[in-house]
Amino acid sequence: MTASDPSNATAKPSAPSVAERVRGSYLGLAVGDALGATVEFMTPREIAHDYGVHRNIVGGGWLRLKPGQVTDDTTMALALGSALLADRSIDPLPIAEAFSQWMRAKPVDIGHTVRAGIAHYRRTGHTAMPEEEMSAGNGACMRCLPIAIATFGLDETRVRAASRAQAHITHNNALADAGTEAVILMLHGLWRGETLHQQLAQHVQPLAEKHPAYGFRRRPCLNPTGFMGHSLRVVFEALFDSDNIEQCLIEVVNRGGDADTTGAIAGMLAGAAYGENDIPSRWLDALDPDISQQCISQANRLLGLAPLEVR
Ligand code: MN
Ligand code: MN
Repeated sequence: MTASDPSNATAKPSAPSVAERVRGSYLGLAVGDALGATVEFMTPREIAHDYGVHRNIVGGGWLRLKPGQVTDDTTMALALGSALLADRSIDPLPIAEAFSQWMRAKPVDIGHTVRAGIAHYRRTGHTAMPEEEMSAGNGACMRCLPIAIATFGLDETRVRAASRAQAHITHNNALADAGTEAVILMLHGLWRGETLHQQLAQHVQPLAEKHPAYGFRRRPCLNPTGFMGHSLRVVFEALFDSDNIEQCLIEVVNRGGDADTTGAIAGMLAGAAYGENDIPSRWLDALDPDISQQCISQANRLLGLAPLEVR
């Protein structure tokens, strides 16, 4: 056996472990959010003018962030994860309460659908918004990662039920549900060590066939809004046309628009595909150390408890 023999296992780096992939997703969410927030609501032209190619976590943007600071995408996920860890089950009531406390702490940004959903919970005690047919915002998908970890090992029906339980607190829309559930099922496949190509065939193509809004590559989505169809098209285009986390996230955030959220969703998926060791160290070094510590801790603890029961 020679060094170039593909059967020589010592010649190639070993595949990431499940824990490395799950931590890759949580850290990928945070670095994608921090990287994208700088260029949120900008057009690709404006980004090119100001940054050339935007590739470093430098803060700023319309929120005037400190370098390494994250936004609602990451902090809502951490609030959700804390509720799951404290309750040790998937129950919408403690999750809604955690979101309410998160809003009380005056987050750096908050979407209007999220604000309306939390206000509805405070007013009525109900943990599901009435069904909204017209808008399919990305606010439930951006924070879905703790549910994905907590449901790792459950059958698909229960995974979908758990996803809706958290999503409907603020976003009750069938198109958004289908997209978020596809992201969670893709995360599960990637954490198990399946390929990106398998996720494309098993989850993305069926999703796009059922819901044409997710039909990516017809023509590239160049400046995504907060609509789930835009967000996931950008994420899929970058994810399936790149070979590593850095390339994937740079492609996503340089399209601007809702760039912190497309960065966050792409970061979860690319982190799952390539593992935490593929995240550029300059990004991990730039990230708020308190946030990266919470991401690692929640990833480890939720994975240790998974799967949790759905109430
Ligand atoms: Mn945000
Ligand atoms: Mn956003």
